[in-house]
Amino acid sequence: NKYPNAINEPIFSYLAGSPERAALKAELEAQRAAVREIPAIVGGQRLFSGVTVPVTAPHEHQLVLGKVHQADSAVVQQAIDAALAAQPQWSSWTLEQRAAVFLKAADLLAGPWRQRLNAATMLGQSKTAYQAEIDSACELIDFLRFNVQFAYEIAAQQPLSAAGIRNRLEYRPLEGFVYAVTPFNFTAIGGNLAVAPALMGNVVLWKPAATAALSNYLIMELLEEAGLPPGVINFVPGDAQAVSAAALNHPSLAGVHFTGSTAVFDTMWGQVGSNVSKFRSYPRLVGETGGKDFVLAHASADAAAVATGLLRGAFEYQGQKCSAASRAYVPASLWPAVKERLLQDIATIRMGDVADFSTFMGAVIDRRAYDRIEGYLAKARDDQSVTIHAGGRGDDSIGYFIPPTLIEVQDPHHPLMENEIFGPVLSVYVYADAEWDATLKLVDSTSPYALTGAVFATERAALEQASYALRNAAGNFYVNDKPTGAVVGQQPFGGARRSGTNDKAGSALNLQRWVSPRTVKETS
Ligand code: GLU
Repeated sequence: NKYPNAINEPIFSYLAGSPERAALKAELEAQRAAVREIPAIVGGQRLFSGVTVPVTAPHEHQLVLGKVHQADSAVVQQAIDAALAAQPQWSSWTLEQRAAVFLKAADLLAGPWRQRLNAATMLGQSKTAYQAEIDSACELIDFLRFNVQFAYEIAAQQPLSAAGIRNRLEYRPLEGFVYAVTPFNFTAIGGNLAVAPALMGNVVLWKPAATAALSNYLIMELLEEAGLPPGVINFVPGDAQAVSAAALNHPSLAGVHFTGSTAVFDTMWGQVGSNVSKFRSYPRLVGETGGKDFVLAHASADAAAVATGLLRGAFEYQGQKCSAASRAYVPASLWPAVKERLLQDIATIRMGDVADFSTFMGAVIDRRAYDRIEGYLAKARDDQSVTIHAGGRGDDSIGYFIPPTLIEVQDPHHPLMENEIFGPVLSVYVYADAEWDATLKLVDSTSPYALTGAVFATERAALEQASYALRNAAGNFYVNDKPTGAVVGQQPFGGARRSGTNDKAGSALNLQRWVSPRTVKETS
């Protein structure tokens, strides 16, 4: 095989005294001290509109890290023109030529760029060093490398030929541009939503989340250094509705690559639908949206494993993962042991400045998120039907801090069990051991989402029963593990129902959406 299989990038641990930690600290200090101007990048040109939105550190909201120059609809139009102008040349490059750019970017990120991107993710998105490392370093490097492997796997899928007949499939890019709309919570997802279509020969309009603009802008600089030609990916931070209105109305819209809320994806889907006869081709719509992810413990489960799964699944990155554990179902016989362990562990959690390497939780992303989550907590504090075992009140004096919160509900259909909160709030329903079968039905039917879920049990029959009963309740199903932290190439990621189109990021299934094959039959 000419192209060796990709392997997952090892995770750096940034131990005290290590050169990695020193390099990361130096980057954190430098980025803290600067106020970065973040322009749009259109056809390789930086456009400073002068209308700016500040990027602040969520855990220190008075600290301004950057100013994002907003792209208006004229800039978006210019960016689409630049993309379409770049398309003929970019799509004429061979897969080898395109892959070389992204593989070089992966090598740069594994080397000198690693701490720069991690520091931006830590400061701008309030990730701890570990959470940044597994995202903006390892996961993004993995996407860049594994995508290349998947692209070759796709190219190798060829039809039969016969005597005197030679058939082939040409994996053309889509005709038009792909619109990537990306979230704040994973720097790697931001990068991948733009890079995956580009690797397949497409040109891209990338609208980053305002709150991730610092790290996402650095990805553009990284790709430029790796040799990405101007105009292939055009970076247009700006008002989401204005950018989307321009992009989703354009006759050359060929695809949407989205991660974000269900409500926004619904709106975009509707806009595409109402414009459908305008487009030259039917746009591909690929979206990963919300989740209300479950952890189900069986009476045979190991209580310590359940507690650890819940703690990490619910509170790492402040619960701001689409995959985060947010509703748990624990049998009455196991609950005392799980609760005791969980409360002990929660008491040891350090929340605060992410530049302090002993911190486990930073702040939630912004004022809006803080107010939304605090709204749920305020209601819970007044609600006689629920018991708050830990946390339950935020503090926004320095940053947008919400403590790890554990709430026990009596009603399994309480809004806390049904609504996506997207914060460090874990709701638990304690079921009678004899109600296992009914609980399986409850888990499956409670939420409209179906992204991730976990079952804990030591009895194999119970695991198999849950696995079958919950076969449509999660696109990523974990057995005796937390429901977060899918690894590229190992656990292709995505779910169905209201969680998205399940086009499995980190697999060939996703890249396949960005090609429009031509079948060629040749006779002689
Ligand atoms: N892939 C991430 C995980 O497995 C979640 C992605 C998301 O939050 O959108 O935890």
